[in-house]
Amino acid sequence: MQLDSVDLTEMERIDPFCIPPWQQGIEAQILEGEEAQKWAEDSDELKVFVDASYRGHNAGVGVYHSARRSDNSVVEHREAVKIGKNAGYTSTHVELTAIQAALELISAIWSPDTIARFGNKARDLTYVIVSDSQSAIRAVSRPSRQSGQAVIRLIINTTMEIKRRGGPHIRLQWVPAHAMVVGDEIADELAKQAIEGTLDPIPGLTLSAALKKTLMHTEDKLEKPVDIDTALPGKHTKSIYDLQTYKRAAVLCQLRTGKCRLNSYPAKIGATNSDRCTCRGRQPETVRHFVFECPLWKEERKTLQEVAGNRWGYLSFFLGGRSEQRLPSGELLDGKAESWKPNVDVVNQTIEYAMATGRLC
Ligand SMILES: [Zn+2]
Repeated sequence: MQLDSVDLTEMERIDPFCIPPWQQGIEAQILEGEEAQKWAEDSDELKVFVDASYRGHNAGVGVYHSARRSDNSVVEHREAVKIGKNAGYTSTHVELTAIQAALELISAIWSPDTIARFGNKARDLTYVIVSDSQSAIRAVSRPSRQSGQAVIRLIINTTMEIKRRGGPHIRLQWVPAHAMVVGDEIADELAKQAIEGTLDPIPGLTLSAALKKTLMHTEDKLEKPVDIDTALPGKHTKSIYDLQTYKRAAVLCQLRTGKCRLNSYPAKIGATNSDRCTCRGRQPETVRHFVFECPLWKEERKTLQEVAGNRWGYLSFFLGGRSEQRLPSGELLDGKAESWKPNVDVVNQTIEYAMATGRLC
């Protein structure tokens, strides 16, 4: 199909118009900082997070999507694709490839058969492709004479094809990189995995071949597209996401990475001058200080202290990580890695605590 016609390794012919001037680009929206985070957490829209990663001549693409079924189970799609050397791409090309991979996923979910079964309901849905690349988003929302036209055309054609079938509305959304948006962090992680050798490298892979690989990968990994059917919102509820789960995951992600509103992080990245906590001790407001020490949250901390017992103070234990710490006897505190499991109760309670303080989000 059309994919065969994309080969960016060949000399690109740049047309004066990427698409006929009477056709519009794809709707796009740009949100800043906290606004982006709030949108990611609160909006009912279906989100597909994409990201690209580069190191040397290697590049990787990550795609992350999750949706809730009517029985509350969550369908997740994670995709990591490595694009090898000498593919003749720019960073924007790779970001655009990630967007196209997201569209192919949406297209696979909303096959003509599925749409036929759901009638007009599909049209009422909006899928938002979330990227932290402004250049890629600009390129497809206002296509002009520029490099990467082949992928841009493909993106626009795929979007129009989904629309023509009566499928969902598609919007692009920019969020700043590392705005503590969970799905974005996951896509970022996947893109990194793609280049860090956890996947088999595909030698001499061109962008178009990578794209095909993406599609094959998508079809393999995607849970039967029909499964998504039951996740469709009824007339009574717009929510297709398990927001509660999402918020909890966001909280845990912030605590684990330390990228959060606790004063030590904005100070570290130069966004504020002081890393001190507002409590009397004037200590740096780190995750450790926040979870274990800060006197401002004594009340909120009580249940957590109860469930933690004698493990109080071992931060990794509270965040679901395994400790390499040894007991005086020389034994590993957490036992062998093979038999270790995180203490889910304690992790849940840590999340409850953080949410109760209202300090994170
Ligand atoms: Zn404090």
